[in-house]
Amino acid sequence: MIGMSYSIDAEDLLERFCRYVRLDTRSDPHSDTCPSTPGQWQLLRLLETELRDIGAADVRLTAEGYVLATLPATSPNAGAPRVAWFAHVDTATELPGGAKPIVHRKYDGGAIVLPDDPAQQLTVETTSHLRDKIGHDVITASGITLLGADDKSGVAVVMSAAGHLLRHPEIPHGIIRLCFNPDEEIARGMTKLKLDELSADVGYTLDGEDLGEIDFETFSADAAVLEIRGVSIHPGWAKGIMVNALRLAGSFLSALPAEVSPERTAGREGFIHPVEVEGNADRCTVRMILRDFELAGLAAKRAAVEKVVAGLRIVEPRAVFSLKFSEQYRNMRYWLEKDMRPVELAREAVRRAGLTPISTAIRGGTDGSNLTARGLLCPNLFCGMREVHSPREWVSLQDMKKSAETLLHLAELWQESSPS
Ligand SMILES: [Zn+2]
Repeated sequence: MIGMSYSIDAEDLLERFCRYVRLDTRSDPHSDTCPSTPGQWQLLRLLETELRDIGAADVRLTAEGYVLATLPATSPNAGAPRVAWFAHVDTATELPGGAKPIVHRKYDGGAIVLPDDPAQQLTVETTSHLRDKIGHDVITASGITLLGADDKSGVAVVMSAAGHLLRHPEIPHGIIRLCFNPDEEIARGMTKLKLDELSADVGYTLDGEDLGEIDFETFSADAAVLEIRGVSIHPGWAKGIMVNALRLAGSFLSALPAEVSPERTAGREGFIHPVEVEGNADRCTVRMILRDFELAGLAAKRAAVEKVVAGLRIVEPRAVFSLKFSEQYRNMRYWLEKDMRPVELAREAVRRAGLTPISTAIRGGTDGSNLTARGLLCPNLFCGMREVHSPREWVSLQDMKKSAETLLHLAELWQESSPS
């Protein structure tokens, strides 16, 4: 093995993780505030306090809910790039947070029954990757909440790695910037972050699953909103006059190409996904998301939606259809393929941690999608989370430890490099 081998304090990592997942930090897409929910402030304030306790510099909680801090350089290489580590404090909207974490020490390979809902079980037959974790300390929730390993495993990993570097100034690294952010799950994680305040040259989100995973290719994403205005009249004398917006919404949905849907696509295929219909016979709104790895594919999906609407305009000229698209995020590969150094150094760090680097195109976006498009190259690294957004979410302590050790190697690797 090249370089040093590092050992993160696993019990410290576990305690941190359990402390963070007990807080309910579920985000809310219907809220206009940032963070979107008050629960997220609890964890942000806790992290602010803990960062001061471990001796981080420049600790600050911004008015928009970003915790920023610095690990001062220990390397004489003053020109070493400044590396930022990111993790999001919010949890997915589908289920409550506020987990009661259960630690299954030295997992024996048997069925894990979640006590608050015994119908929820994890077995090596039905839970992918669980068989590989026999002998590990596996952490689950109790059955009625998320565990919140997405992304509190990332938060705990960043805090543990930061604590380790502060206790071991003999490990050479350049300036490391830390950022804990709200609202990743509602795709607003980075919208209020000021890059000049962050002051980093390169970044990594800790928000991935598989051991050794380095993501640098994500979907490109648009949202679409179709508003349909019908013609209202008392139904008793509506014949020949009424135009029912709800029936038009139904026609629209059934005319969308069914095979281009999340439930029928995988791998590198994109989709059109209606997510919400709201309204009444007079007017209603259909909200959709469009996804594709390539911009040309995304444009084709916009065109497919436009074509369906154009057809309805001909069928029902008395209705008013208004269709609007908006950009959500773009595939980070477009920027990273011009400078693969952040990915290559992450691969080397993964190898030094004794793992095999893997990269797959991820069918989603990350906070790094936004940052990369704004000029801060930001791949996504694994932190061990599994079966996220589900009551059966779980994580292995040993995998989180590997993630933190990868970060230490990465810190060291960047200080060996010169400024770009
Ligand atoms: Zn996440």
